[in-house]
Amino acid sequence: MTLAPRSEFPLLAGNPDLCYLDSAATSQKPRAVLDAMRAYYEHDNANPHRGAYELSVRATDRYQESRDRIARFLGVPDSATLIFTRGTTESLNLVAAAWGRANVRAGDGIVITGLEHHANFVPWQQLALEKGATLRICDLTPTGEIDLDCLTGLLDARTRIVAFNHVSNALGSINPVREIATLVRERCGAIIVCDGAQSAPHFPVRFDALGVDFYAFSGHKMLGPMGIGGLVGRRSLLERMGPYQTGGDMIESVLDDRTTWNVLPHKFEAGTPNVAGAVGLAAAVDYLDGLGMDRVAEHERLILEAAIGSLGELEGVHVLGPPVSRRSGVVSFVVDEIHPHDLATVLDQQGVCVRAGHHCAQPLMRRLGVPATTRASFYVYTDVSDVVRLAEGIARAQAMFASPSAPRR
Ligand code: PMP
Repeated sequence: MTLAPRSEFPLLAGNPDLCYLDSAATSQKPRAVLDAMRAYYEHDNANPHRGAYELSVRATDRYQESRDRIARFLGVPDSATLIFTRGTTESLNLVAAAWGRANVRAGDGIVITGLEHHANFVPWQQLALEKGATLRICDLTPTGEIDLDCLTGLLDARTRIVAFNHVSNALGSINPVREIATLVRERCGAIIVCDGAQSAPHFPVRFDALGVDFYAFSGHKMLGPMGIGGLVGRRSLLERMGPYQTGGDMIESVLDDRTTWNVLPHKFEAGTPNVAGAVGLAAAVDYLDGLGMDRVAEHERLILEAAIGSLGELEGVHVLGPPVSRRSGVVSFVVDEIHPHDLATVLDQQGVCVRAGHHCAQPLMRRLGVPATTRASFYVYTDVSDVVRLAEGIARAQAMFASPSAPRR
């Protein structure tokens, strides 16, 4: 059984044989999200914040209601501290640029982990290079989880930023955010940045209980449209930060020789915003709340158990990452003698969509000692039958590549 009916997802309904196992890259969209965006454009579209006319006020209201709705979903008590961005990448770059450039100095420390997506790796690496700061990369345990002893050793009085993901996109590891936040606060005054791209979609998240300073997320991974996501931050930090980009809407007054900034959240939202995206994401969180986030997590756990069980029965298939109890709906694996790209191609011929490659986590692949993995990832519309098709497809690929005429890499 799926948790959400495939019939409510036009792309899946239109392709009944499609086995979509790439939701960690992006989720499919329910009709409710597409309808909400269409209704916005058909009835309420205008440039918000700018016009004095009623239609523009309506667009402004839709944008603000969406912000309030998404803030409620993520346990953000003050919706003005939820900044809309294009997604996790932009949110993390915002913090690196607006907080990092102003506060990190030569000799300071920035701590990240070997588990990070490039979006939570490269901005900090570049900031460290620009400022002459030291980038310290926390080791992982053999199961691909953050090694807390190592992390403890990396923190000192000069550590200014600690950034890590809530859930690894490559392995599915769920990191103990609260525990890490407490550890950091005990040892230094660093800001704590959490990449929530893979947590907000999959289980209940309350920003006010995580203990972090910034939390970044992407709408398209949680049933919403592409091009919208957010950054949640502590008000005191956001207020002290300068802007990330400058232009329309983010100003209070512009004099010939200087400019003052608008209040939150507008200070960080320069230019015409993605109102339809925000409306679509609000519809997506309505949909997720309708399913119940506890049930979403439970459904994915059942699929995950089935997947790890089925793949475990196949000889030559090695699943990477932590046990099910500390893992979200992601299974990364390698298959003896078959390159992940070849495997993904053979699976695609059978209508099974999986991702193969480094999953935007080259530093992690180096630590795991593999050039790439194949990754299957699950969501509310995934059924156990999808996992059966995955296992059958892998077995078929193994049979093909075992035959003497099979191509070898
Ligand atoms: N962090 C993680 C853990 C991710 O999975 C992703 C998306 N694959 C990102 C960051 C970047 O998200 P986006 O491309 O939506 O900005």
